[in-house]
Amino acid sequence: MSKLRSIVLIVVLLLPAYAYFLPEAAANEKQKQEKSAEEIYAERLELYNSLSVMTDIPWQWIAAIDQYERTMTRAKPKVRPKLGELTGVYINEQKWAGPLNPDENDEELVSIAFFEGVGRDGDGDGVASRSSDIDLLYTVIHLVSQFGKTDEDLAIGLWEYYQNPRAVQRIQQFHQLYSKFDKLDLFEHAFPLPLRSTYSYRDTWGDRRGWGGRRIHEGTDIFAGHGTPVRSTCYGVVEIKGWNRYGGWRVGIRDLNNYYHYYAHLSGFTKDLEIGQLVEPGEVIGWVGSSGYGKPGTSGKFPPHLHYGIYSDRGLLEWAFDPYPSLKHWENEERRRLRK
Ligand SMILES: [Zn+2]
Repeated sequence: MSKLRSIVLIVVLLLPAYAYFLPEAAANEKQKQEKSAEEIYAERLELYNSLSVMTDIPWQWIAAIDQYERTMTRAKPKVRPKLGELTGVYINEQKWAGPLNPDENDEELVSIAFFEGVGRDGDGDGVASRSSDIDLLYTVIHLVSQFGKTDEDLAIGLWEYYQNPRAVQRIQQFHQLYSKFDKLDLFEHAFPLPLRSTYSYRDTWGDRRGWGGRRIHEGTDIFAGHGTPVRSTCYGVVEIKGWNRYGGWRVGIRDLNNYYHYYAHLSGFTKDLEIGQLVEPGEVIGWVGSSGYGKPGTSGKFPPHLHYGIYSDRGLLEWAFDPYPSLKHWENEERRRLRK
């Protein structure tokens, strides 16, 4: 291995991918000293566009795959060290070079192909490099599109590649979001209730006396008058809508960080709200109520409030995390925006 390559490898291995654990918006803040969020999105879009020209796959699919990979890397930073600069794609050495390849850092196309590794050369420099954004993304797109390039073919290719129905669903949802909003920067947030309404909340994480949680209280209760509008906090896809014994009338929305936002105890949903619908931050989805704790339609067993929870998808399971700090942050952010 050349000296330069070993230095590059050491840097890649030692890189504390700390910026990567953080949600997209916070990570962008961290990177601001060097590159602005706008610059990073512009560079990523350029990468997706050039790969789209090479592969004939729309950039929205490429962006969706890359974003899914990024959320998995953020959820499992130890087993998925950052490889590329712009892409979130992770492929391990054995898969890249071939399981029986004696050189697990092999970049030679002939030997990788001989040992049935997946690594490919996308940037045309004659080698398949695991530190090249283009080679990494090109390799995944090549594998995913081997059954064809229609949306249905890609769903089959995604299933074959990830062997996980949740991965396929996420990437399809991300693809819809990028297709509808036609940009990469979809990480603005809003507070779930209008800031002008009267409400109160405190950190109720793990509180046994909370309403709408499970054994421990997984969320924040925001108390407000019956009928106060409830708004989506993010750009996302409506994944669940309907009755739940504890949550009452509730809505679940998936965002591009692969977080599931849960709104419970509603008095009702906005007309036409449907599963699969794409929403924006601040868009009204329903109204505060006190539904839940019984059969469909049960209401009034506790004071009206919005139960709001966030769950992070870690590939095979979901973890709740305390939404209180995010709520405070979005509330302040929105207040600042309104003042302008
Ligand atoms: Zn609650």
